This record gives sequence, structure tokens and C-alpha cells, in this order.
Amino acid sequence: MIEAISESIAKVVGAQKGPTIVVMGGIHGNERTGVEVVKKLAYQFEHSEINLASGVLYLILGNPKAIERDTRGSEDHADLNRCFKRDVLECIPETYEQTRAQEIAKILATADISIDLHATNKPSVPFLCCAVDEAHEKIYQWFDCDRVLADPRYILGGEPVTTDEFIDLNGGVGICYETGQSKDLSRIDEVLSDVRDVLRDQNMIAAMAPSPFEGEGGGRGVTRSVYELVSVINLTEAGFRYEGTLGGGSFEEFTSGQTIGYIGDKPVVAEFDGVIVFPKIPELQTFGKPVVYLAKKIK
Ligand SMILES: [Zn+2]
Repeated sequence: MIEAISESIAKVVGAQKGPTIVVMGGIHGNERTGVEVVKKLAYQFEHSEINLASGVLYLILGNPKAIERDTRGSEDHADLNRCFKRDVLECIPETYEQTRAQEIAKILATADISIDLHATNKPSVPFLCCAVDEAHEKIYQWFDCDRVLADPRYILGGEPVTTDEFIDLNGGVGICYETGQSKDLSRIDEVLSDVRDVLRDQNMIAAMAPSPFEGEGGGRGVTRSVYELVSVINLTEAGFRYEGTLGGGSFEEFTSGQTIGYIGDKPVVAEFDGVIVFPKIPELQTFGKPVVYLAKKIK
């Protein structure tokens, strides 16, 4: 039985006790694969194509206003996935994103697991953004990608700010899955199947045929490299430009000593062998905020 509990938030309750899982898409409104996966899952529960045997499942379209605008936030430079931090969650909300974060955080605080589906603005292979340990791997093993980006020092937001960081702090297991580039809608059915595999693995979905994607040894049977965020290049009034062809997409490699780009005329020289991640498209660049992040392969 699926029930709408508030704007773009649906709840499915299983007959038996079990874990509480949150599946989210559209925390960033232009990242459409996650939006479609959440809609399709809701449709399948509504039409009893799948039934929840146990536990509680929340299906959330994160930022309905941004989804309607087909933009990252409800207004320029608004970012819901930087709002899951204490001062925002405890404030009297002044913006749409703050209101929405408070509403979603209440649900996340009750959950054991969250799966937040995102996509990148520049080209990228699919990758996971989350903590790396056995509990997280048990969930993300079902997603078909060969790398995980961890951020144990909170380089991304300076403190825990994302849905996965918030639920981790509350004792749950948070996963963020970057499904590829936001314009690429070719993976919707595959990602939907992956999410269903997580539910099946948690014994929440009644007996189904084995997943067509299951690999040897459980999950997708994929070996994953682990990267960690190390540092950030902030945009200043001096401006920033990349050296050469760098800046096209996440996971472009650089080597120690290489000039990555220039802040004004001043070269930014890499201090380690690494990759760039989340290079910002010009529309999303803001003075004083990150223009690109640097990460290092650790495993
Ligand atoms: Zn996103």
C-alpha cells in the first residue's frame, strides 16, 4: 500500500517488520535519471507490480520546484544537497531548500538506509559518493560502477552537509550514486533494477526472479577503486581557468607537479597524483565557492 504523505513524498509500509529505506531522486532538479527511477518505483507499487513484504520505504522527489524548472535548485545557486547541516536544519527556514531539507531530514532521521540518486553536469563515468565500509558496501554493491569517492574529512561542504552524510551521522547508512551525466537518460531501467536489488537483498521485496545483473560473489561482482577528496580550488574575483584540456569532466587525471590551472595569473600546481572531480559548469560558479575538487586514489 503506497500513500502520499506530503508533497512528492510517498510511504510504503510492508506487512512485516524490517528496515526503513529512503530512495530519493531530484534533490537536484535537473538530474533526471533519479527522478524517473523514483517515479517508476512509485508506479510499480501503486499498480502492485511489486509489493513490500517488510519494512518501510519512502520514495522522495527531493526538490519539486527545481524539478519543475529542470535546474539544480529552485533558484540560481540554491543547493538542497548542502542543506543537511545543523544550522540549516535547526533554523526558521527562509528558503524553499531550507524548508525542504528540514522535511526530508525528519524522514532520514528515522531511516536505516538512504539511496540518493544524482548525476553530474559535466561528463563522468558513474560513481558512488559515500563512506567506504562493510555496511555501505552491502548496499552499493548492487550499483554498476567501478569507483567510490569518499570524503572522510568533509572537503565537499566543510562539514557534513549532504543526505548521505546526514544519515551516517544519525547512525544509518547513506549512499549517493552519481548515475552519469545529467543529460544521459539511458540508464533509468538499469538503475531502477539496481535499487530493486537492494530492496530484495534486504528481504523487503517478495520473491522475485534473480537479478539479471547479479555478478559472482553477490552484488554486481564489480571491483571498485576508492578515491578520497583532498582539496578544493575556490573561485576568487581573480577568476580561474584550466591548463590545457583539463576541466572537461570528473576523473580526469593529473600528476604531481602538473599545473592544473590558474587563479588569475598564478598557477595551481598539483601536489599529488590525482583526479579532478565535480568541475563546475560556468552557470553554477560562485565567488568564494569551489570551482573544482581534487581527489586521490587510495585503493
Ligand atoms: Zn546532484
